This record gives sequence, C-alpha cells and structure tokens, in this order.
Amino acid sequence: MKILFLRAALLAMLTLFVPAFTQAASKVVTSAKEFIAQAEKELAAHSVLAGRAEWINRTYITEDTDALAAEFGACGTELSVRLAKGAAKFDGVKGLSFDVRRKLDFLKQGIVLPAPQKPGAAEELNVIATRLQSQYGKGKGTLDGKPINGSDIEEAMGTVRDPDKLKEMWTSWHDNVGAPMRDDYTRLVAIANEGAKDVGYAEVGAMWRSGYDMSADEFAREMDRLWLQVKPLYDQLHCYVRAKLHEHYGAKVQPATGPIRADLLGNMWAQEWGNIYELVAPKGIGDVGYDLTALLVAKGYDPIKMVKAGEGFYTSLGLPALPATFWERSQFTKPRDREVVCHASAWDIDNKDDLRIKMCIKVNGDDFVVIHHELGHNYYQRAYNQQPFLYLNGAHDGFHEAIGDFIALSITPEYLVQIGLLDASKVPGADKDLGLLLRQAMDKVAFLPFGLLMDKWRWNVFSGATKPDGYQKDWTALRLRYQGIVPPAERPSTAFDPGAKYHIPGNTPYARYFLARILQFQFFKAAADQAGWKGPLHRGSFYGNKAVGDRLNKMLAMGSSKPWPDALEAFTGGRKMDGSAMIAYFQPLMKWLEEQNQGRQCGW
Ligand SMILES: [Zn+2]
Repeated sequence: MKILFLRAALLAMLTLFVPAFTQAASKVVTSAKEFIAQAEKELAAHSVLAGRAEWINRTYITEDTDALAAEFGACGTELSVRLAKGAAKFDGVKGLSFDVRRKLDFLKQGIVLPAPQKPGAAEELNVIATRLQSQYGKGKGTLDGKPINGSDIEEAMGTVRDPDKLKEMWTSWHDNVGAPMRDDYTRLVAIANEGAKDVGYAEVGAMWRSGYDMSADEFAREMDRLWLQVKPLYDQLHCYVRAKLHEHYGAKVQPATGPIRADLLGNMWAQEWGNIYELVAPKGIGDVGYDLTALLVAKGYDPIKMVKAGEGFYTSLGLPALPATFWERSQFTKPRDREVVCHASAWDIDNKDDLRIKMCIKVNGDDFVVIHHELGHNYYQRAYNQQPFLYLNGAHDGFHEAIGDFIALSITPEYLVQIGLLDASKVPGADKDLGLLLRQAMDKVAFLPFGLLMDKWRWNVFSGATKPDGYQKDWTALRLRYQGIVPPAERPSTAFDPGAKYHIPGNTPYARYFLARILQFQFFKAAADQAGWKGPLHRGSFYGNKAVGDRLNKMLAMGSSKPWPDALEAFTGGRKMDGSAMIAYFQPLMKWLEEQNQGRQCGW
C-alpha cells in the first residue's frame, strides 16, 4: 500500500513542477527551487523505506524479501528517471543559485544508464540490463573440463598454479560469459546514448565524466595526469613480477621480456596480484615479525571487540562514539539459521544516525582491516548528516572508498602497540617492511592501470570511437598498453572479453576506484604530515591526534555540497588530486625494485 501511495504522490508532484518556458524568468527560477525542494523530500522519504526493505532482504534472504527489495528498487529507478527528466527541463535557465544548479546536475547524473523518453525504450533498456546482469551471475567457466561457477573460478584463479589449467579457466570464462553479451551490450550502448541526449549530454561517457566539477575533457586529462605520476612504480613492479614468473614457469609460459600472460597473475582480470605474492616474494624479506590474526586471538578479541577497536580509532581523533542503535541493529556475525549476504557493507538507514554495518566477522587480521574501512563510510555518512538530501554524499565518488581505505592504511605496528595488541618490544624495524610493502603494492599498485582502462574503454564505446566490431580488439589493445598483459590465447574478433568483468554488464562506472586508490595515500600523507610524523611514510601514525580529526571532519561534513577541491583543501590543504603521496609511501619498495630490476629490460 505504501508503495502505491508513494508512486501516486510522486506523479502528482512531478506534473506540478514541470516548468513552462513561457513563464517569466523569475517564475522559472522559483519553480526550479521548488522542484528541488520537492525532489529532496520525495527522495529522502523513498530512501528510508527502500533502505529498510533492502536491509531486511540482505540480512534475511527469502522469496518475499527478494520481491519487496525488487519492488522498492524499481520504484527508486522510476523516481530517479522522472527527477532527471524534470531537472533537464531547467537546462539553460539563467539566474539559478549555485545550490539549485548543482542539485539539478546531481539529479541528471543520478541514473547511470538513462533511458530515452520514446515509448518502450525504458523497458527495453531495463530488460537488456537485467539480462546482462543475470547472465553474469549465472556465468560459468570450466576447470578440467567440468563447469565451475563464478565465485569458485575467481578463487581458483588465485590458488591454481598449473598454467594449462589457468589458461583453461581464463579462456572458458571469457568465452562463456563475455562473448554471448556482445549484441545486447551493443544495443544497450545505443539506447543509453539516446537517453543521455534527452537529459542534455552528448553521450553516456560524457555524462559520467561530468560529475567531477570540471569539463568531461578536463576530467579525462586529469585521469591521465594521475596515471603518469604513478606509472613509474607500476613499471618497476611489472618488471619484477614478470621476471619472477619467468623464473617460476620458464620461457615457454612467460617470456623474460614483453607483456605478462594475463592468467598468471592470480586474478581473473589481472587487476590485483596479491594472490601470487608467495610466487614472487624473495626469501628473507617477507617476515613482518608478527601475525595480526594471532595477536587478536591471543588477546581474546571477539567480533564486537574488533568493531569497538575500529570505533576507537575514530573516537581517538575526536569523532563521536557510534550511536547505541549501531550496536543493536548491525549484523556483526553470520546468523546460524538463515541466508544472508555476508559481503561487508556500511549503511545509514535514516540519513541521520541509524548507522549500521553488515558483516560476517571472523576473528582475523583481514576482517580487522575491513572493519576499519567500513566504519569510514559510517563516519563519513554521519559527518555530513546535516546536509540537504542531495548533498548526502562523498565530495566525488572516489572519496567514500578512499576514506575507509586511508584509515585501514593506518593499521601499522605502532598503532597496534598503542591499542595494546602488539608488545612494544616486538615492533619490527621499518626495513622489515619490504615484504609488507610488496604485498600491498601487488594489490594497490597493480590495480591502477586496470582501474584506468575500464572506463577508457567504455568512454570510447559510448563516444563511438570504438565501434562494435572493434570492442574486443580495442579492449585487448588497452590491456596491453596500460597493464602490459596479453590473453593466454589468441582472442577471436567475436569475443567480448569486457563482458567477463562484472562492472561492464553491471554498468558500474569505474573511474571512482582508480581515484580512491590515489586519494587514500594522499589523505594518509596529509594526516601523517599534520601529526608531525617523521619516520617512513608507510609507518605513519596519527592515532589519537585530535587536530587531524578536526580537519578530517571538516572535509567529511561538507558531503558533496561544494566542488570537491574545496573538500580536499579543507583536509589536505591542496586542491588537486596527487599521486605523489602514493609514490612517497612506496619509496622504500621502489628503491628495492629498481635494484632488483637492474640489468633487466623493463617495459613491454
Ligand atoms: Zn567500501
């Protein structure tokens, strides 16, 4: 009943606020203001109901909760589509305030794939998008000729070391999952581009790039600039890892020069390489001197105590304790008697103070890090809870993930001493950290070119620079150019390898993940500098530093109300994203890699 009521109310209010261009300009300005006020009211009401339905669904999966969550999801899509179209009607209207213009833009950018107004288009787009997603979800590859599902094959790519089996899994996954999506994806691009035109953008890629307080072209250049800052580090890592794979597998599998075979890197997309750390770690540097999991167990930590420790990091910076409801309503551990989604996430149900995390915490080092990360989302949400609805967001879409990751970077030995987990006498010298840094770089640095090229490919597809018959060729070319990798076997032109990565059929923009990787180190360096940290950056600590907490909170509290450079400046003092902090963080590793790579022919 509530759902029907909400929809009817929504329709009524939207027809009320469609502006007539014959009205006097001041009337249009007023009506834009009213349109925004009404939109924020409706969005807020919807988000609370939808949030509750979704929460119940994720923590108690049944036919019924699936159906309810889907219903609210559809309702939300309908709402955003209508609001985007309503907002587009104010394009070109002069005299709007900064906030009204900004919020209208947010409404227009609120849908990742806009459907055109013409009859049937929204339905067709929806059918295709859903089909692509479920095709991905049901996708299977093979191992030893037997079918293997998505999550199992992903795991197996990280553990199997037989190059023939890796090749079989890689090829079968890309053939089975990607290739059948090609025609659907082609059609989806055409429809969504028409939809983007309807809301005032040249094409979908330009629309995606317009959400960064600069022109779409400037943003593309900005991504390239950041990449060039960090590329030397990637090049050294690539060179070193290739040499180790060559040693391990021999020249037939991995030649000493040229690109790396994509299936050897421990990950289906070669996007993070941490799974093959043991293949490349030289003896003697891998020992960090302590084991976080063992420390947690020895000190009698349980899941709640782990979350309390995470909260303790934030309160040490002077941020407020989490509300009592957080402890009552969160899902900390896996329930014994029902299906739930264990994938960690952070929630803010009422957009004010009803914060929660949903996890299936195990007492281990990984989950200890994840908790610090998830609480970063909660503290961000809470810091901006005084903002109007359309500003309840990160400064741009890279900020939210970067906050949690930046706090997670702070789980250094020094911090573990401060919270009583590690004995001060057990703190290893910073020279012991090469193993740790290499392990981190295998994930964080290795990811960068992949994080960049995902949307580079899509931008070209949406703009038409890459035509459907070039989908595969251009994908493989970008993978070679940026990542320096090649498929384990020749790819036919009928293949569609991009479809075998979730975010392509799932239509999730990807630049944000690249930006988050860059920003987290920038935040970390800013915090360490402000705390007067003098040691090596990767050991930096600002636990307990209220001045850092103050500045951080200024940035968080802005939400998305100001252009992101303002937010960045509030915390770091600078107005540009900057990859040099990441370079500084990994400096000891860079030096070591350069030594290791002496005499090798790097590059591809
Ligand atoms: Zn996150």
